Amino acid sequence: MFMSSVSRLGEGRTTYFSKETSKVFVGYSHKCSESWHSLSMTILLVEDDRAIADALVDGLRDNGYKVTHVVLGSEAIEKVRGGGITTVILDLGLPDMDGTEVCRQIRTFSHVPIIVASARETEMDRVTVLDMGADDYVVKPFGIKELVARIHAVMRRASGTVAPVTHIEVGALVIDTKSRTVSVGEKSIAFTPKEFDLLAYLAREPGTVFRRADILRDVWQTTWYGTTKTLDAHVASIRKKLGNAEWVDSVRGVGFTLRVVS
Ligand code: CA
Repeated sequence: MFMSSVSRLGEGRTTYFSKETSKVFVGYSHKCSESWHSLSMTILLVEDDRAIADALVDGLRDNGYKVTHVVLGSEAIEKVRGGGITTVILDLGLPDMDGTEVCRQIRTFSHVPIIVASARETEMDRVTVLDMGADDYVVKPFGIKELVARIHAVMRRASGTVAPVTHIEVGALVIDTKSRTVSVGEKSIAFTPKEFDLLAYLAREPGTVFRRADILRDVWQTTWYGTTKTLDAHVASIRKKLGNAEWVDSVRGVGFTLRVVS
């Protein structure tokens, strides 16, 4: 049961699941300070395991979400069809149909963000559900904090497609995501495509510590954590090109953050 901390998260209740004992643990740890943002959001939870469903409903409500819980895949499809659902949390092993089929059917009429929450954890399982149109995949057991972070990430991506930010200024650092150019003061700096993507990703929220796993997922579109060396190499190159290593701060055991350098 691994939980890592992220700087923008504050105090609150955290729920843990244990696959071995099928028990649910609730403890006090972190809660997201962005919960004002979640007040208008209705999460559809599709889960047939009563203990997991109860803990998730409590955890999501504690984080300010409205939650609608259903047990059957057919009910889930009808709820999404009815409208008003902002994100779907979808179990795969359901009594009436497989979650991958639920996902496929929803995608025939809706772009609602879908996060698959399942104990199936092979790469093939992930590929199958992502191919079916799911936006993210979280492997049981997981903590409510990780789930909330993923809900925020899919919502950010979903809203990002409506009004993309094209001009980012962080101190002397200016990034234009349309022309894909970067300058510090008067000096323009050339970056490789992935270096640019990584820098722009960090610069959208200066001071926020992004977890390595989230960066790999969002910038490299991979959940293969073995590529973490690639991430380190890109950070090193960005620091060198910006001319000051302090721009990209490494937070040990967590990830990276962009700092304003005067
Ligand atoms: Ca199940």
